[in-house]
Amino acid sequence: ASRVSARIAAINPSATLAVDAKAKELKAQGRPVIGFGAGQPDFPTPDYVVEAAAAAVRDRANHGYTAAAGLPELREALAAKTLRDSGYAVDPAQVLVTNGGKQAVYSAFATLLDPGDEVLLLAPYWTTYPESITLAGGVPVQVTADESTGYLTTVEQLEAARTERTKVLLFNSPSNPTGAVYPREQVEAIGRWALEHGIWVVTDEIYEHLVYDGAKAESMPVVVPELADTTLVLNGVAKTYSMTGWRVGWIIGPKDVIKAASSYQSHLCGNVSNVAQRAALAAVSGPLDAVEEMRKAFDARRKLIVSLLSDIPGVECPTPQGAFYAYPSVKGVLGKEIRGERPANTLELADLILREAEVAVVPGEAFGTPGYFRFSYALAEQDLVEGVNRVAALLAEAK
Ligand code: PLP
Repeated sequence: ASRVSARIAAINPSATLAVDAKAKELKAQGRPVIGFGAGQPDFPTPDYVVEAAAAAVRDRANHGYTAAAGLPELREALAAKTLRDSGYAVDPAQVLVTNGGKQAVYSAFATLLDPGDEVLLLAPYWTTYPESITLAGGVPVQVTADESTGYLTTVEQLEAARTERTKVLLFNSPSNPTGAVYPREQVEAIGRWALEHGIWVVTDEIYEHLVYDGAKAESMPVVVPELADTTLVLNGVAKTYSMTGWRVGWIIGPKDVIKAASSYQSHLCGNVSNVAQRAALAAVSGPLDAVEEMRKAFDARRKLIVSLLSDIPGVECPTPQGAFYAYPSVKGVLGKEIRGERPANTLELADLILREAEVAVVPGEAFGTPGYFRFSYALAEQDLVEGVNRVAALLAEAK
């Protein structure tokens, strides 16, 4: 018999972290690897957040447990921030503070799903989603969009995938890995469809502030207010404030669901680190200037990487309007010979690129769609240029 449970044995290691680990290993050996794998901003956490955390550490009042659902001040600040940023009016009792956006995802599905409940999973999807659904006993039902629609899923596709067991629609705009941002009309159409069929919405808004070209991240329960009673909004400080290591996220939902998820959390982890909650309080109560600075830097890199990638024969890169990822199709290169090898899929091609060009990219297999690479552009501009040039030089050898 297996030493670990079937449930845990079924979990795949995070492919994005695996690529990053491989790249770091090569780097440690002295290789000049350029990594496009990491899903984290390369900026420091803003000073005012660091200062607030330092002050919080020194105050003994912050050395104990907090309420399981989070510091009352933080829940209040998160309700205020949500109204400010997305226009969604919620009560602090509708907020649960979690250990990062990741735990928000896990707790959301643990709280909503019974065995066999189906979740519509829009692909390309973030790697963590299917694992969290499966662990909760749910069944991910993949609905795939490709570059021809800018990776946007239609209501017709969702309707074709709907069954009597469909309980939840999982939505993520701006999207990891594609950077796609759904326009308001499409958010509304999808929201109305979910409402009409009594389908819950779990919507991950963690990239809400990272939008470009005038795109706007529309919050589904704001666009379709009747959805409020059957929607969970997921968010966190990681991407907006460059606070990936601080581990603070949250869920916003109807009070009964948040109460149930809080009970679960009280046994699961007690509470999120008291000091980290203080840091998050400073972040979300503060101005958005630092966020705007980072957004501008990302925007410049976005334009650069899209133009460099688009120049590579066999590579097709729709222009992402959000987050900090580009998601080109490399289908035109697959099956061709490069340095004596003939990579048949993007797992093999990514491996070849890491060995021969010393560049780390995440293969589309990690996001439910082979044939693509995810490039995170959260790295210095000169590295970005050097990295894409190396990939271009290697792929130019394809014959
Ligand atoms: N949601 C999406 C779409 C993400 O890309 C990430 C991070 O990669 C998260 C949630 C969770 O972030 P964290 O757990 O660092 O708050």
